[in-house]
Amino acid sequence: MARCWPGLLARGKWGKWSSGLSSPTRSPLRAASLSRAPGAAGEGAHVLYSREHYALRASLRKIIDKEINPFVDKWEEEGQFPAHKVFKTLGQAGFLGVNKPTEYGGMGLDFSYSIAVAEELGNIRCGGVPMAIGVQTDMATPALTRFGSDELKQQFLVPTIAGEVVACLGVSEPGAGSDVASIKTTAVRKGDDYVINGGKMWITSGCQADWMCLLANSSEGPPHQNKSLICLPMNLPGVHVAKKIDKMGMRSSDTAQIFFEDVRVPSKYLIGEEGMGFTYQMLQFQEERLWAVASILAPMENVIQETIDYTRQRKIYNQPVLHNQTVHFRLAELATEVELVRSLLYQAVVLYIRGNDVTKFASMAKLKAGRLARELSDNCLQFWGGMGFTNEVLVSRLYRDSRLLSIGAGADEVMLSIICKYMETLPQKK
Ligand SMILES: Cc1cc2nc3c(=O)[nH]c(=O)nc-3n(C[C@H](O)[C@H](O)[C@H](O)COP(=O)(O)OP(=O)(O)OC[C@H]3O[C@@H](n4cnc5c(N)ncnc54)[C@H](O)[C@@H]3O)c2cc1C
Repeated sequence: MARCWPGLLARGKWGKWSSGLSSPTRSPLRAASLSRAPGAAGEGAHVLYSREHYALRASLRKIIDKEINPFVDKWEEEGQFPAHKVFKTLGQAGFLGVNKPTEYGGMGLDFSYSIAVAEELGNIRCGGVPMAIGVQTDMATPALTRFGSDELKQQFLVPTIAGEVVACLGVSEPGAGSDVASIKTTAVRKGDDYVINGGKMWITSGCQADWMCLLANSSEGPPHQNKSLICLPMNLPGVHVAKKIDKMGMRSSDTAQIFFEDVRVPSKYLIGEEGMGFTYQMLQFQEERLWAVASILAPMENVIQETIDYTRQRKIYNQPVLHNQTVHFRLAELATEVELVRSLLYQAVVLYIRGNDVTKFASMAKLKAGRLARELSDNCLQFWGGMGFTNEVLVSRLYRDSRLLSIGAGADEVMLSIICKYMETLPQKK
C-alpha cells in the first residue's frame, strides 16, 4: 500500500481491501485516468485527487470486482440486488461514510473523497447498484449529518454508515416530482408524535429500506417554510409498500411506491428545525447531483473503450468499423466531452469544499452529464450494430440506465430553470 490511511487501518476498516496504486485495470481509458495519480505523474498533478484518493479507489475496486460485478447480471434479471448484504460489505470497509464524521463511524474526510468513491462505483457494470449506494451515502444522509441531533445520528446515521441498515429518500410523490414544494404528505404534531399521512413515489431501495429520510408538510403556510425532514422507520404500523415499480432501466435497484396511513413517529425524529425541510432538501440535492455526475463518468468511459475494442475487431467491407473516420472521430469527440463534464464537476467540488454555493455549477454539471450520457450511449450503441441491441453488452444497459439522469434528482428542465435563476433570466411567477 502506498500510504496508510490516517486512522483507518487502526479502526480495521478498508485495510482488508487495500491494494495500493498498482492494481491492474482492464480498460486503457481507466488506466489513463489512474495514471493521473500523483504517484505516477508527480505529486499534486491531479486537480482534485491525491495519492490517498487513488488508494481508496483501488481498494473499492477490489470489492467491486469480487463482491459486486460477478453478480450484477443475476441481480439485473431478478429486478433487485441484496442491499443489506452488499451494504454490510461496503460499510465494514468504510465506504458508506467517507465524508461522515468519525464519531459516527465515518472516515471524517472531505467531500472530494465521496466524489472519488462515486467515480469508482461507476465501474459497477450497471447503474442500479451504484444509485442505491449513492442514496445511502449522499442523498438520504447529508441533512441528517449536518442538522440532526446527536441522538438521531446515533440511532440512524451510525448503522447506515456501518451498512447494517438500508436508507431511502422520500421526496417525490405521485403528484409532485419536479415541483417539490407541492408535496401533499403531512406530518401533524399530536402530543410527542408526528402522525404521517400521504404517500411517496419512485423511492429507490423502498422495498428493502429500514428507514426513510422523509419530506413532509408539518404545518400550513408558505410551501417553502412548512416542510420538515423526518427519520421514518419503515417497520412502523401504517407504512405500506404498495408496489415495486417495473422500470426500463436501473433494473437491479428496487423502486417503490409507498403509502402512509396514520403512521406515528416520535417528534424527536425530526431532523434539525421544524419548517426547514425544504431548505435542507435543496442543500441535500447539491450533494446528490454532484454525486450523480461523478458516478456516470466511468460508465461513459468504459462504454467508449468497449466500443473501441469491438469496432476494432469487427470488420465490414474488409476493414475494421473503427477505421471509418466518422466512428473514430465521433468517439474522440465523446471522450472530449466526458473530460469537459469531469472538469466542471471537479471545479464545483473544489468550490463546494471551500464552502461556496455551487447550486449553479452542480445544476450545469448534472444537465450536461445527463444529456451527454444519452448522446454517448446512443452513438456508441449504433456502432455496435445488432449486437448493441442485445442485453449482452454494457452499452445497451448504459443506454437504458443513464436515461434516468436527465429525469431523476431534478429533470433537465429543472436544472435549466435553476441556471436561469442564477442568470437572472427566469421570468418571475405572477
Ligand atoms: C428510477 C427512479 C428512481 C428515483 N428515486 C427517487 C428516490 O429515491 N427518492 C425520491 O424522492 N424520488 C426519486 N425519483 C423521482 C425523481 O426524482 C422524479 O421522477 C423527478 O424529480 C421528476 O419528477 P416526476 O417524475 O414527477 O416528473 P414531472 O414532475 O411530472 O415532470 C415531467 C417532465 O416535465 C418537464 N418539466 C419539469 N419541470 C419543467 C419546467 N420547469 N419547464 C419545462 N418542463 C418541465 C420535464 O421534462 C419532466 O421530465 C426517482 C425516479 C426514478 C424514475
